[in-house]
Amino acid sequence: MKQGKIFIISAPSGAGKSTLCNLILKNFPDISYSISYTTRKPRNNENHGVAYSFITNYEFEKKIEKKFWAEWAMVHGNYYGTSIEFINQKIESGKSLILDIDIQGAKKIVDLYPDAIKIFIMPLSFNILEQRLISRNTDSKDVIKKRLENARKEISQKDFYDHVIVNDELEKAFRQINKIIKKAFCEN
Ligand code: ADP
Ligand code: 5GP
Repeated sequence: MKQGKIFIISAPSGAGKSTLCNLILKNFPDISYSISYTTRKPRNNENHGVAYSFITNYEFEKKIEKKFWAEWAMVHGNYYGTSIEFINQKIESGKSLILDIDIQGAKKIVDLYPDAIKIFIMPLSFNILEQRLISRNTDSKDVIKKRLENARKEISQKDFYDHVIVNDELEKAFRQINKIIKKAFCEN
């Protein structure tokens, strides 16, 4: 059986990564979402085991010892990680995966899975990024401040990615991602 593909999607917080990932999942039934683990507190609209499995620092660190992670990183002050078993089970059964992870994680995944396709989502401007984080209404002022500071560092590393997409108009950004995914499926 043909192995599934891995699509890595990274972006500064608020650029629209979750929105675009949801559109991908709706339009490509053969692609699954890689459910990460995090020590971040769940937001109001987040349930355990959907976008994330929410665990404690102690549980996370135990899993580091047990070599549970394909990759893990500290992002905006919390641990985030991807289970190696989850990835391998999916791709070996022919399912493709979207990994919504930061650049530290992306670099580790590429070491393990060099064929992974790397997509970076950009906002049109920092002002727009800030407006989106404020209007999303899920994070405190302090959290938004930290995420905006980190955005500059994240954007400075965008050349690591195979594709950079500006999420100005959502439909246009999705059309570009759609093309990248279809091309990847046609290639082998
Ligand atoms: P991320 O997952 O990258 O942190 P989200 O997908 O949660 O970002 O998007 C942040 C906010 O911006 C959400 O309220 C979302 O509805 C909105 N948004 C996403 N893409 C666009 C777009 N192209 N135009 C306007 N608003 C957008
Ligand atoms: P959020 O808290 O907004 O859901 O995510 C914050 C950041 O953590 C985003 O950049 C997101 O891509 C990243 N992230 C989410 N899951 C993982 C993961 O499993 N590993 C890594 N390295 N980053 C992750």
